[in-house]
Amino acid sequence: MPGVNERMDNTESFKAEKEMEALKERLFELYMLYTLSKDLNMAAQVDEFFDKTVNFLNDSLKIEEFCFMLLDEECNNLKVWKANSDTYEAIKDVTFKIGEGISGIVVKSGEPILIDDVSKDTRFLHYKGGKTDIGSFMSIPLKVKDDRIIGVLNLHKKEVNAFKEKDKILFTAIAHNVAQTIERARLYEKAQKQSMFDDLTTLYTRRYFRESCNREYTKAKRYGGIFSVIMADIDHFKYFNDTYGHPLGDEILRKLASILKINVRQVDVVSRYGGEEFAILLPGTDKDDATLIAEKLRSIIEREFTMEIGGGKIEKITITAGVSTYPQDGKTIEEIIATSDKFLYVGKESGRNRVVNILLSI
Ligand code: GH3
Ligand code: MG
Ligand code: MG
Repeated sequence: MPGVNERMDNTESFKAEKEMEALKERLFELYMLYTLSKDLNMAAQVDEFFDKTVNFLNDSLKIEEFCFMLLDEECNNLKVWKANSDTYEAIKDVTFKIGEGISGIVVKSGEPILIDDVSKDTRFLHYKGGKTDIGSFMSIPLKVKDDRIIGVLNLHKKEVNAFKEKDKILFTAIAHNVAQTIERARLYEKAQKQSMFDDLTTLYTRRYFRESCNREYTKAKRYGGIFSVIMADIDHFKYFNDTYGHPLGDEILRKLASILKINVRQVDVVSRYGGEEFAILLPGTDKDDATLIAEKLRSIIEREFTMEIGGGKIEKITITAGVSTYPQDGKTIEEIIATSDKFLYVGKESGRNRVVNILLSI
């Protein structure tokens, strides 16, 4: 028979063991969170980030079934963004209003909800009948800065009572990391898009043009290909601006942009290179063909591009263009663009409203 002291010792050591277990568990959770944060921070694209999150849910947390729903900013509905592949097909078109279903309630309240047995909770809508094999369910808000909620992370288990109350804390921390990453990826994509298109003309930006040139150059260099660049500039644009005002100048730029866009091929990259200067990349196009295209653009503009100023006055718009081709006009992108620019300058000097593809003696 153990004495009183011995029993006390046993109780104490049992308690200490329990505490040690809890501590280990907490440390493990912290370690997992640290790994996830690190992975998410390094993920450059949304898809890569999603793969990492899925691996983490599967491998580290043994969660096989989950669904991310994000708030659509336009209609304010929750829409399925991603889910494990089996589930995704069944529920991909399901949407919830704010306050509808558990996901909608979580978005509204900003608090996680854990349901031990979904058959006993009438608020649970089984993704509007799309998924009926769920036993227990947890829905966590995806919160970003200022406590703004961008969606929910839902976790499903076939068995009832599969989540513990304290799991909420861990999953809330995970959801927080994930939400920040989604937000960052969205902002990044938005910024990318903004730097890809010019606001005024909706043509590609100079930056996108340069990136496209680099891609084309790498291909052409490796496989012995060719490409051409047309640099076009509006003649006497300053006169239109100064005489009729900036808004008319803007209108000219927009009109010209659409003429250029509809008169080249889909693969050609038409960009606004600077104020009233446009650059067009023509992949796989030699000098003769590029010159024909530039000449076609120039003559369409000369024939068809007029601006009605009011009082019956009509002004005609013309452009001057330079055409250069890789590899004959330069060994690098910089050289190709500089040559095209030089030809354009020659065109201006020799009278404007023309296309130049060689150095004329003027
Ligand atoms: P050239 O025939 O030699 O090309 O003469 P130009 O008058 O077209 O050329 P210049 O470079 O002297 O003038 C270009 C003008 O384009 C000056 C600038 O104020 C105007 N500009 C640049 N960006 C914009 C814009 O976004 N909107 C408007 N309306 N004007 C712009
Ligand atoms: Mg000009
Ligand atoms: Mg100019």
